Amino acid sequence: MREEITRLEAVSRQLEPDSDKRQALTRQVTEYAEQFLDALPAMPVYVEGKPDSNFGSDIGEDGADLQSLLCEIEKQVDTYGINPASGAHLGYIPGGGVYYSALGDYLADVSNRYSGIRFASPGATQLENKLVDWMAELIGYGQSAGGDLTSGGSIANLSAIVAGREEHEISAADTVKACVYLTSQVHHCVTKALGIAGLKECQLRIIPMDSLYRMDTAALSAQIVSDRNAGLHPWLVVGSAGTTDTGSVDPLSEIGDICQQNRLWFHVDAAYGGAFLLCDDGKAILNGINKADSVAIDPHKGLFLPYGSGAIIVKDPSTLAKAHAYHANYMQDATAVEDDPSPASLSPELTRPFRGLRLWLALKLAGLKPFRAALDEKLLLARYFHQRLGEIPGFELGPAPQLSVVIYRYRPRSGMDISDFNRRLVEKIQRDGEIFISSTLIDGQYMLRLAVLNFRTHLEHIDRLLELLPATAAELEQSG
Ligand SMILES: *Cc1c(COP(=O)(O)O)cnc(C)c1O
Repeated sequence: MREEITRLEAVSRQLEPDSDKRQALTRQVTEYAEQFLDALPAMPVYVEGKPDSNFGSDIGEDGADLQSLLCEIEKQVDTYGINPASGAHLGYIPGGGVYYSALGDYLADVSNRYSGIRFASPGATQLENKLVDWMAELIGYGQSAGGDLTSGGSIANLSAIVAGREEHEISAADTVKACVYLTSQVHHCVTKALGIAGLKECQLRIIPMDSLYRMDTAALSAQIVSDRNAGLHPWLVVGSAGTTDTGSVDPLSEIGDICQQNRLWFHVDAAYGGAFLLCDDGKAILNGINKADSVAIDPHKGLFLPYGSGAIIVKDPSTLAKAHAYHANYMQDATAVEDDPSPASLSPELTRPFRGLRLWLALKLAGLKPFRAALDEKLLLARYFHQRLGEIPGFELGPAPQLSVVIYRYRPRSGMDISDFNRRLVEKIQRDGEIFISSTLIDGQYMLRLAVLNFRTHLEHIDRLLELLPATAAELEQSG
């Protein structure tokens, strides 16, 4: 048997390259990254097409050469679709990808510390809990707040809803009487989460909005009263701090008061807008967010981190703990020593990536100043675009941006269908690949959207879009 084990060992040791090989591999990877980042400013932000159909399917017995794999990654992955690293990405909610975080991921992956359980890595869990505390302080919560770093906003919203469900003791049998209040602008992951949480049969109350697409609080109050009088059970209000469509922020302070008076769980989806708490204007717009019971924030949006970084922050962490309670005999030695909560006690996950390191390293290496400046810059770029586009004949504007999203459209000469024209306008600009913008439907109307959130987006991109829009519209008008 020893002989067989030794024979296997010789092969399995190939999983551990020696120092020379490691350095050679790392050099090739950093060279690839350097080339990518150097070429990025001139790269198209969108390329139509797709990878070869057999890409990814040729897993074989023998190892391959890294250089050829990097070529494959470049051709098959880093070519087609949207390039979220580009500052010219001004559609949907742009992503980020600060380099500092990549270094954090590299270190986290090499040492592979177990961040799910405090006993396994007191350092990793403490770091994550401190980052949660930092975000709780940004929100304006007291010392006792807590939360968890999640993979993104969808899971953060799900955890919040489950915490609210448990706190309000909504049993399966109670579901049909339980009322949830939101606007039609709430992110679709919220209704998805209600379904996942077994709350599909809740009474969904779509509250009307004002002209700036914010929840009408008088209508909210009236609906709660009428539901209560009808013998139903109002329990959850979901507010948005930055809707995806228009970047609108619901009147959080007033909603918070209504929830407190009526003893409802108040959740704020700040996946997009939460990071703006770092700047004075954002803080003023998000005033009252501290009245929420739970807040979802996506560092992979407004803190410019690579994808896979969300956060759920709750005023009372015992609510998250109750909602995610578990017991496992085989973990008795790991869970016995808990004083400060472990991430696994506050989330659906057990084993998870050590997400804190990418956030901490980026915040520490850069310091907060450039993050605040970038966020202020994004707010101003959106306002600048709104102002300048208003000076160009033919364009119709939505309301002045509350955060960094602007909606607008072109009104073509008579005889042309406005929705069809704008669809062709956005498609043409997307296909040209220089700037990426997207569209949406507002009150059934086809509208174009500008969303400024990538840390690499600067004045030059907005100025270029301000040239491209009228030029492309004129071309389309001429071609009919
Ligand atoms: C992006 C977004 C979400 C979803 O977050 P993911 O990180 O994509 O899962 C939820 N709500 C809002 C407002 C968002 O912008």
